[in-house]
Amino acid sequence: MLLERIKAYSAALGDRPALMAGEEMVRWGELWPMAQGLAAKLREQGTGPVALIGDPGQVWVPVAFVACLLAGRPYLPLDPLLPPAGQGELLEQAGAVLLDRRTAEEGFSSGLSCPLPDDPHRIAYEIFTSGSTGRPKLVEVSLSNLEHFLRWASALPEIAAVLGGTAVGQAAWSFDLSVADLYLSLLGGGTHVALTPAEKEDFPALFRRLEESDLSLLVATPSFLRLCLTEPSFGPDRLPRLRTVFSCGEVLPPAAARRLLDRFPGVALLNAYGPTEATCAVCAVPISREMCGGPLPIGTIGEGAVDISLEEGEIILTGASVSPRFGGKYSTGDLGYVENGLLYWAGRRDLQLKYKGYRLEPARIEGALEALPQVERAAVLPRRDRAGQVKGLTAFVEGAGLEPEKLAQALGDLLPPYQIPGQWKLLDRLPLTPNGKCDRKRLEEML
Ligand code: AMP
Repeated sequence: MLLERIKAYSAALGDRPALMAGEEMVRWGELWPMAQGLAAKLREQGTGPVALIGDPGQVWVPVAFVACLLAGRPYLPLDPLLPPAGQGELLEQAGAVLLDRRTAEEGFSSGLSCPLPDDPHRIAYEIFTSGSTGRPKLVEVSLSNLEHFLRWASALPEIAAVLGGTAVGQAAWSFDLSVADLYLSLLGGGTHVALTPAEKEDFPALFRRLEESDLSLLVATPSFLRLCLTEPSFGPDRLPRLRTVFSCGEVLPPAAARRLLDRFPGVALLNAYGPTEATCAVCAVPISREMCGGPLPIGTIGEGAVDISLEEGEIILTGASVSPRFGGKYSTGDLGYVENGLLYWAGRRDLQLKYKGYRLEPARIEGALEALPQVERAAVLPRRDRAGQVKGLTAFVEGAGLEPEKLAQALGDLLPPYQIPGQWKLLDRLPLTPNGKCDRKRLEEML
């Protein structure tokens, strides 16, 4: 259904921009022939996953995604912030070949065509996310998972009202939140605007871009929304057509929600929830000003993309948007509770964190540290503000002749910047619990 729609819009919408980022643009009329050209080449070359490293400022990346869907080969967007050694490791783990921009562009202009494949259960994309083992976890999402998510999300009244308009996305391609803005935009024949890394670091440029895009839908993490709200001109004068904000990926603090609703009185704010393993988001609920006196709900029971239940307080997802790897049922590790038919998030069962909107596992950073020759043991803990948001990472390290700068530098060769602890504490010995495990409670007191 998704590819057929893209094909039809490409034939009908001609000069209308389909994908925009920075100075780059692909028009609807160009999208299908470009994707066909590359898909034909990709299909000739193999069947395995196709990895792409592209920042959101480059529109060839989403065109290549469509080409991969057409070719029937999974695409794998890698985090452009990962240093080369980290990227190499993931490419190997996934058994993927890397597609670069030049090769993709040769494919776009090949003039070849590629028939639509007919296996709806084929893998659409793969994404590396954090895993509790400390090793990056590869999640495969099928085309039918993706289409199921799109059917559910596009039927939400707040989304249906903005389909076909301009959607702005803030997340990197390697973060599955971008699935929402990109594909809802393509599904509705709209225009997708990806914010570039440079725009995200330069406030005047960011707000100029938002204003010029004339957006009706903004898809963002609460961290990004809070950042936008620090700018007084982030309001309806500059963004008169904004109708829906889809917030997802981490806790939406009530104070931020209230500020957003006060700033944009006519805007619908959806608090959406879901893990990569169940395709972007599985439930969402419109937030009203009255709800902002306490924790905000993440969904309405019975109205999600999947069946949502609680087992010993853990949120369990069962249904068509759960990645095939989990056999249709996924235990999220998130704790939840239901009140008046609304679902609330109540923390994690494990140590997984959200920091600056990124999902990460302390065990990954600890493992990288413990692989360094000088390090005996390491523990990484979050520092939180009063609202519980992670504001930094602290590494406790035991070893001989340690120098924090060198440790940070060594980690920087393997991990993206947001996983490098900003604070270091060198200890003669990490405190242990009676059964010999690292005593995180004691470490928390030392933060
Ligand atoms: P990711 O796979 O990166 O999308 O991260 C999924 C995790 O983010 C979930 O398992 C939750 O722990 C957290 N999360 C996502 N959305 C929300 C939300 N609206 N409120 C609280 N936590 C969320």
